[in-house]
Amino acid sequence: MIQEMTDGELAQCLQKLRLIFEGFKAGGLRDWAYRSQTTRDVIQRAAACQTGEQQLTLISNELTGCTRCRLHSGRTNLVFGEGSAKSGLVFVGEGPGAEEDRQGRPFVGRAGKLLDKMIFAIGFERQEVYICNVVKCRPPENRAPQPDEAAACSPFLFRQIEALGPKVICALGLSAAQGLLGNTRPMFQLRGKIHIWRGIPLICTYHPAYLLRSPSQKAAAWQDLKEVLRVLRA
Ligand code: URA
Repeated sequence: MIQEMTDGELAQCLQKLRLIFEGFKAGGLRDWAYRSQTTRDVIQRAAACQTGEQQLTLISNELTGCTRCRLHSGRTNLVFGEGSAKSGLVFVGEGPGAEEDRQGRPFVGRAGKLLDKMIFAIGFERQEVYICNVVKCRPPENRAPQPDEAAACSPFLFRQIEALGPKVICALGLSAAQGLLGNTRPMFQLRGKIHIWRGIPLICTYHPAYLLRSPSQKAAAWQDLKEVLRVLRA
C-alpha cells in the first residue's frame, strides 16, 4: 500500500498520523490500554482532543490537490481561508475571484478591500477575524457556485467552522447565506434576523462586491454589522 503512494501522499499521511498522535497525547492517552475500544472510537476521541488549529491543518491537508468538483480544473490556487477565530467572528463569502485564485488568499481583490473596511468599522483588524468561502476554488467568470460545487465543498467548510468555534458567523451574500442555512430564500428574508447554524448565531448581510455595485445598500449592511457586533459582545 505504502509503495503505491507518492512522496506527497506519504508526507500527508504522516502529517495526519502525527496530528492524531498529538491528539492522543493531549487527551491523556499514554499507552494502549484502550485496546478494547474500536480504532474508530480512538480516532474520534483523538480528533476531539485536537486543537482547532490542528483540525484546520488536517482539513486543509485533505483538500490538497482536491478534484471533488469541476472547479478544480480552472484553479491556480485553492483558497482555504485565513485569519484568527480568537475574536469569535468568522466571515463566509461565496468563492475566490481572480485575485484570490492568484494569491491563494480570500478577499484580497476590490471586494476584499471593502470587507477590510467593514471589519475595521466594527473594531477589528482583518487578521483578528477568520475569512473563508463556501467554495475554495474560483468559479469561472466569477459566477455563483453551482449547487453540486457547493455541496462538494461544504462538508469542509462546515468542519472548518466547527474547528474555529466562532461566537458569530457573518454570511456575506446569498451564496454564503443559502449554502450555510441550506435553503433558497431571498436576501430580503435572510437579513434582519439571527439564524442559528449548528448552535452558532449566524447573521446575513450583503456581499461586499454587491455593495460596490450598489453603494446605497451600505447603510443596511452597516445595520447588519452592528448586529454582528452586538451578538459578539452579548
Ligand atoms: N468574493 C468572495 O466571495 N470571496 C472572495 O474570497 C473574494 C471575492
